[in-house]
Amino acid sequence: MEIDPRRFITELLGQKIQATAENRMNIGIFENTTNRNIYRIGNFENHSEFQAEKQLWLFPQFNIGISLRDQDLASLSKQKNRAMLYFILVVDLFFIASAFLVFRTIRKEVRLAQIKSDFISNVSHEIRTPLALISMYAETLEMNRLKSEDKKKEYYRVIFGESKRLSDIVNRILNFSKLESGKRTFNFSNFDLNELVEKIMLSYEYHLNIKGFAYQVELFQQSILIHADFEALSDAFINLLDNSIKYSPVLKSINVRTGIEGGFGFFEIADKGIGIAREHHKLIFDKFFRVAKGNTAYMAKGTGLGLTIVKNIVDAHQGKIEVSSKLNEGSVFRVLIPINK
Ligand code: ADP
Repeated sequence: MEIDPRRFITELLGQKIQATAENRMNIGIFENTTNRNIYRIGNFENHSEFQAEKQLWLFPQFNIGISLRDQDLASLSKQKNRAMLYFILVVDLFFIASAFLVFRTIRKEVRLAQIKSDFISNVSHEIRTPLALISMYAETLEMNRLKSEDKKKEYYRVIFGESKRLSDIVNRILNFSKLESGKRTFNFSNFDLNELVEKIMLSYEYHLNIKGFAYQVELFQQSILIHADFEALSDAFINLLDNSIKYSPVLKSINVRTGIEGGFGFFEIADKGIGIAREHHKLIFDKFFRVAKGNTAYMAKGTGLGLTIVKNIVDAHQGKIEVSSKLNEGSVFRVLIPINK
């Protein structure tokens, strides 16, 4: 079979060229020997108007000439290069952004895993110590090894104190999980904030004395009437007081004050303990956060939940919590609750 080059070019190749050119190019095919034009797309006079001309690979007796209608080839190639560059840039940016997101997620996961494992080890440690003491003291009492009544009383007191500590830890975790899931309900009533502080300080008198604390309570001269949940606010106060005791290993001095300021009634607990560095002031209210971690000079036990619970309770009362503290000098925590109009 023999192919007629003219027919092949005009009928078959021509269609393909037309589709590729899309009205953007002038294309002409010429016979080499006679220079006769056998196929054309667009308007042109002669060869000199083409920007590129080449022999047809399949039929070397013909030449194909191409020129762009609105642009020259250099600017088209420039445009293509620029488009390619933008494309590479976008792809690069996409990869960089993905890598950053993956890195951030992994870092968050690692931090969360670390926090979880710290929390479990802190809680286990906190629970193990009172359990060991209770079991040891109860065993000694059960074996009737103690003859003096005073000694027995002391052992009972330790057992009572340690079991209270255990229930405090469990309550704190339960409170936290209730607050987190929004299941803690608040029972609001009207009462005097001075009464709340006085009642708790009275119940803590023995505890503070036995731990060697010097303390002062300055109650506002008038009653501070607020609409709040007595139990929840007591929890908040006790959490702050416990922290002041826990983080005052050397200078054991606590000052409690109540007052009224700008439409709020407040209580304030000041200590002369280890204090908190400025950069940690905001973080201490985050769940599980503990500054004392890694501080070899002073390792106090804790779960890192106390201040998160306090903050949640204060928020539920549309109140505010303020901290002013300096490292190695002490801390002041102040809780403000709107007063009754
Ligand atoms: P926990 O006491 O169980 O660690 P908190 O949420 O009550 O948890 O407190 C968070 C962190 O804030 C503590 O680990 C401690 O480093 C710091 N902190 C809280 N209260 C005081 C305080 N009165 N003095 C010094 N540091 C404190």
